[in-house]
Amino acid sequence: MRISDRLAAKQTFSFEIFPPKGDLPIDQALKVASELAADDPDWISVTFSAGGSGNSANTVSVSGAIERDTGTTALAHLTCLGSSREAVDLYLDALEEQGVTNVLALRGDRAPGKEVIDFAYASDLIAYIKDTRPEFCVGAACYPEGHFECDDFETSLEHLKIKQDAGADFFVTQLFFDNELYYRFREGCARWRIKTPVVCGIMPFTSVKQIQRMAFTCGATIPSRVIRKIVACGDDEDAQLEAGIEYACDQLVDLAENGVDGIHIYTMNRPEIGRAARRVLVGCNYLEA
Ligand code: FAD
Repeated sequence: MRISDRLAAKQTFSFEIFPPKGDLPIDQALKVASELAADDPDWISVTFSAGGSGNSANTVSVSGAIERDTGTTALAHLTCLGSSREAVDLYLDALEEQGVTNVLALRGDRAPGKEVIDFAYASDLIAYIKDTRPEFCVGAACYPEGHFECDDFETSLEHLKIKQDAGADFFVTQLFFDNELYYRFREGCARWRIKTPVVCGIMPFTSVKQIQRMAFTCGATIPSRVIRKIVACGDDEDAQLEAGIEYACDQLVDLAENGVDGIHIYTMNRPEIGRAARRVLVGCNYLEA
């Protein structure tokens, strides 16, 4: 199933998981995927060495198993910084062999040893896949607060328009904790004539440490009401997780009421997060029971 077809037909609900690192067995990720599949998502996406985790080799096998074993559409991530066209071809061949034809085309973060070979930006990768593999549906990343390397918000939108023009079929947002920032971004997209569907990515906070990491790695604004909520939990980690899920669920209800194209949950491989999101989205009639 092409994700773009699904987005054209309905408001979507989807999950992200990450595969295990290196040679670790993939069974745990598959168990998570099958539990998440029970919540009937439109697709499950699988990250590619996110945060330098070195788990890219397992992205293909986990994505293939999602399609085969759970009957759910898989969206395989792919980064291109430091990759040649040949390496991208091999990756796409491997995906096709596994029956996976939805890919999230990313540049990836700059890191030592990751120089530009054939692709400088995600838009180069998008154009390459659209040109050489028309059978693939190609998604891309977008940033409601602008990308942290980009000097200003309008330039970030200009770069997003380049991704649309390169052929991106849909966008998935970076996580955000303040829906108003997303609505401002949506207005910006309209100004730049960006009409490609945008799926909102929501990640519940799970601990003080995780929220600090998010602020530094992706530049997400942490509203004071998030800080108040987490501080009220003291050192109780279960209470912090519960508060994070509750806050994310409030965000979901608000997004559902404001008519978004799709909702994507960064589950951090925790099926209980997916279940809570489904429950609240059924409660507000975004999803059918
Ligand atoms: P690009 O769109 O290429 O943008 C990178 C920077 O270059 C931006 O600052 C942009 O404004 C600028 N730029 C773009 N085009 C031009 C141009 N023509 N001229 C000048 N500047 C330009 N990372 C992983 O490693 N693995 C993952 O699985 C992963 N999954 C992700 C999923 C989502 C939904 C999101 C939002 C991010 C994900 N990331 C992942 C992180 C991503 O790799 C980083 O945010 C990375 O820094 C940028 O990737 P991009 O594809 O947005 O790059």
